[in-house]
Amino acid sequence: MVDVQVARSLDEAGVPSVFMLDGQLSAYGIDIVRMTSAWVIADELIERACEALRSADFCVCEKGEDCGGMKPNLDFEDFAPAYHFHFPLRKDFFPEGNEWTETLELYRKSDVLPNLPDPELGPPTPDDPNYMLVSDPSLPVDEIGIGGGRWPVGAYPIKIPRVPRFIEAMFQVILRHNPDNHPMWSQWGMGLSSIAGYSDYCLERQKVNILTPNWDDVNPPARRFIELLSGGGELKDCIKYLSEVRGEMVERGERPQSS
Ligand SMILES: [Zn+2]
Repeated sequence: MVDVQVARSLDEAGVPSVFMLDGQLSAYGIDIVRMTSAWVIADELIERACEALRSADFCVCEKGEDCGGMKPNLDFEDFAPAYHFHFPLRKDFFPEGNEWTETLELYRKSDVLPNLPDPELGPPTPDDPNYMLVSDPSLPVDEIGIGGGRWPVGAYPIKIPRVPRFIEAMFQVILRHNPDNHPMWSQWGMGLSSIAGYSDYCLERQKVNILTPNWDDVNPPARRFIELLSGGGELKDCIKYLSEVRGEMVERGERPQSS
């Protein structure tokens, strides 16, 4: 993938970025076929980010949300990237005629990480509660040889959200949606499911879970949600909890849709 090239182009243009989705989950040590190089940018810098990538010879897709070559996340408009770019089709993964391609995606921070401060240029401090580097020592090393897990020391400094902040952010994003919809459907919801299932994944492989030893650092109300999701509970219980939290927010005069 082009992740380092993208990060460097954005840094050189003075645009701080947060690496998310496939690459982020892979750095967390989760098995994933990487199809997307996804980046979150402060809202007011999103145009500058797009221009920086154009200048680096990435070709922006002019179809925007009408593009048939995106993964199905575009069905939820809150999940749509502000800009996206395509790479050649991976014929080893998809049959002829399939329009999907690998993509580079730029997301507005208010759509995806509403709970976090705007990222800054350069590496976060080691005790930053919100962001860490893909080479952070708290990340697991790749034990099965597919290239996931912690990046090597000295790797280009790319920022990802800390796991508890990612869980809280995804919970907020999911809360914005109609409770009648399937809340976990979307690449963001699937990311959350992957985190929830990581303990079981480690148990199956007799691997020490250093990524999510517990949920103590996840703030309520997201903590209860990830506990339900990870405890082998039924999806209907997760949806019921979402409805309850949404109802409490409305009672307090808060709108779940707000960022
Ligand atoms: Zn497109």
